[in-house]
Amino acid sequence: MNDDDLKKFDPEIYRAIEQEIKREQDKIVLIASENYASRAVLQAQGSVFTNKYAEGYPGRRYYGGCEFADQVETLAIERAKELFGAEHVNVQLHSGSQANMAVYFSVLKPGDRILGMDLSHGGHLSHGAKVNFTGKYYKIFSYGVDRITGMIDYDKVRKLAKKHKPKLLLAGASAYSRTLDFKAFADIANEVKAYFMADIAHIAGLIATGNHPSPVPYADFVTSTSHKTLRGPRGGMIMCKSEYARVIDRVVFPGMQGGPLVHIIAAKAVAFKEALTKEFKKYQVQIVRNAREMADILMGRGLKVISGGTDTHLMLIDLTELNITGNEAETALDLAGITVNKNSIPYDKKPATITSGIRVGTPIVTSRKMKEPEMVVIAELIAAVLHDHRNSATIKRVRNKVKSLCKQFPVYEDITI
Ligand SMILES: *Cc1c(COP(=O)(O)O)cnc(C)c1O
Repeated sequence: MNDDDLKKFDPEIYRAIEQEIKREQDKIVLIASENYASRAVLQAQGSVFTNKYAEGYPGRRYYGGCEFADQVETLAIERAKELFGAEHVNVQLHSGSQANMAVYFSVLKPGDRILGMDLSHGGHLSHGAKVNFTGKYYKIFSYGVDRITGMIDYDKVRKLAKKHKPKLLLAGASAYSRTLDFKAFADIANEVKAYFMADIAHIAGLIATGNHPSPVPYADFVTSTSHKTLRGPRGGMIMCKSEYARVIDRVVFPGMQGGPLVHIIAAKAVAFKEALTKEFKKYQVQIVRNAREMADILMGRGLKVISGGTDTHLMLIDLTELNITGNEAETALDLAGITVNKNSIPYDKKPATITSGIRVGTPIVTSRKMKEPEMVVIAELIAAVLHDHRNSATIKRVRNKVKSLCKQFPVYEDITI
């Protein structure tokens, strides 16, 4: 792509993009919800489809000139159906939160009850946090993880479901490292006659490649983002049974959104095509292997990983015994060139702005083709910083090691903006 126009017209934005490219290259980013999309995805996302209004759905638009937008959206839908084995897919959602909102608007009225995972135990804002629209418009009940095992106790979920009689049962999380038993959730939803929605925002890539069981056969609705393990553009999607196709499509447009982001849908189509390849399957296998290796080494260095390990792309580290808060850990690690996010741990005594934990994920380092040996190195660097975060010599030593590792595993070698 030619970036001369931007460079000439808007050097400030150009410079910021350049610096962001450098940041993504020069740091080890372990933010579990992020990924580095391929250049093919970036190119589709940066295309002239951003110019196009295409309200409606393929073949049923409210604007002329949609013939190519129709091709793009139809391909995205067909590929997503193949990838997940879904009966119906809507790819127009601007984000994961909007995908969730669309499902709520399809089957719930204000004041209806939702049972979902507690934010402080790994759930998501859009599953009922007080500050979120869900917490304001619906009656929220939450389940968490067991204090000892750090895992979801399905008997407890069942008890809560029987007690609170939710109209919608939610499964899915942003900071839960273990396999979700979607069948168990579906059975519980059935028992209390609730709708069952699975939010696979984080683990969509694992599910698409068989590295985590799929909720698609069991759930009434499955929502997702396209930009986390799935490695596409920033956006959302909904999969559902055919019986809900009409209501979901109508709630999304004209109910909640106007024109779809056709350039993003084009990039989603590219990402789905990538996700259908053998290489992507291998990539997802490696994400999980890398996370396991990282968890093992971290635990070997005296760090506490919630639930004692991981089945997925992420882990939650409990810093309570280390005399460092999540906030301080995030800052110290970033100084050393390792980017993570502070994260509440289950039963955290500290507020969400401080926290007693950090969340660590392997999608990006795996996109950079790093494998187990590099995970050993990174985990040891993390442990070194966390055990000695006030020592500037340690930070400096780690920073140098990070630099050389990043050089060895380049991102977008020849990328231009
Ligand atoms: C990331 C995430 C979302 C929301 O995604 P946005 O695109 O940021 O709105 C929804 N649910 C879960 C479980 C998530 O982890």
